[in-house]
Amino acid sequence: MRGARRRDRDSVHLVSLPAEAYTGRMSTRLEGIHFLVTYRCTYACEHCFVWGSPDAEATMTLAQLTGVIDQAARLGVAQVYFEGGEPTLAYAVVLAAARHARARGLDVGMVSNCYWATSPDDAAAWLAPFAELGLADLSLSSYAYFVEDADEEHLRAAVLAARTLGIPTSVLEVGAPADIGVPGACSGDVDEIMYRGRAAVLLAPDHASRPPESLVTCPHEDLVHPGRAHIGPDGELQVCQGISAGNVFAGGDGPPAPERLATPHPDGLRRVLDAYDAHTRPVVREIVAGGPWGLAQSVGHAPRRARYADECHLCYEVRAALRAGRRCPAVIAPGQCYAENEPDGSGSSGADDERPGGPGPCSS
Ligand code: SF4
Repeated sequence: MRGARRRDRDSVHLVSLPAEAYTGRMSTRLEGIHFLVTYRCTYACEHCFVWGSPDAEATMTLAQLTGVIDQAARLGVAQVYFEGGEPTLAYAVVLAAARHARARGLDVGMVSNCYWATSPDDAAAWLAPFAELGLADLSLSSYAYFVEDADEEHLRAAVLAARTLGIPTSVLEVGAPADIGVPGACSGDVDEIMYRGRAAVLLAPDHASRPPESLVTCPHEDLVHPGRAHIGPDGELQVCQGISAGNVFAGGDGPPAPERLATPHPDGLRRVLDAYDAHTRPVVREIVAGGPWGLAQSVGHAPRRARYADECHLCYEVRAALRAGRRCPAVIAPGQCYAENEPDGSGSSGADDERPGGPGPCSS
């Protein structure tokens, strides 16, 4: 998952249900589900929300993917995206799941870093099966911002192959415009960096200019009506990275029992969406009411800095401290989003002075 605001495909909408879909009471409906198929990636980008890296191991099974897809189709979800980490590291499983989703009538998109696009011909070989199933969007990452004089040949090869195959493609220009010498491939509409996950730890301190008491809104996610949510190998339905609405595999708050990881709850998605209320769920309700500053105040968290890069920077600091103190573990999840799977603990929030039992949400 790249650390930037997403444009069209993440726009927030409520959906009109098809006639055959579930019509019972649901407080929350989703248009899209984004699968964090694996947290493994060929890179460990500084702007990654979910601490993806070559060392990350957790990967969704085909049974987990198809189980959620079946539930999503019943609930009127219109589209699924496969992302990560790098989803093509689980190529065969993603392809099978994408076919399954198309058979259930869902639109399918994919996000990739193009590591596999060693030439236009090779890229076409990778992409042809996805073209055949009718991939609706292929979002490809540019690294122009992060690597000076970045070699974007893989990106160029992937774009050329996708065009040949008729796959709608967009280039994710994060932090800087990209130019790969393909007319019309890059829009120049640059996504701003948001300081969540690894970006909050590694990038944000160099861009901090705002006092914490000014960060009183959540400007990037509609937590009350989340039009799309992410789900990964842990089953947490994330309304923002590291903020869980509930665990789909468990059919309630996680973590799920081992047997539910192997065989997810058959109605877990509906149960989680039925129960989700942003105005009552701990942590979420504080962010909705007063932004990250409101959350910090409600839990008694003293900001560790005089300046923050953005709302997400402070939000991540507070949540990481709560997680380290084992407060609200069902909401502040999964641990992957708080660097708990980093081999050397390098992503630690530095929050080990936090202890459970303080004021505010989940304190009792
Ligand atoms: S302020 Fe918090 S909840 Fe809102 S988008 Fe940023 S990290 Fe997510």
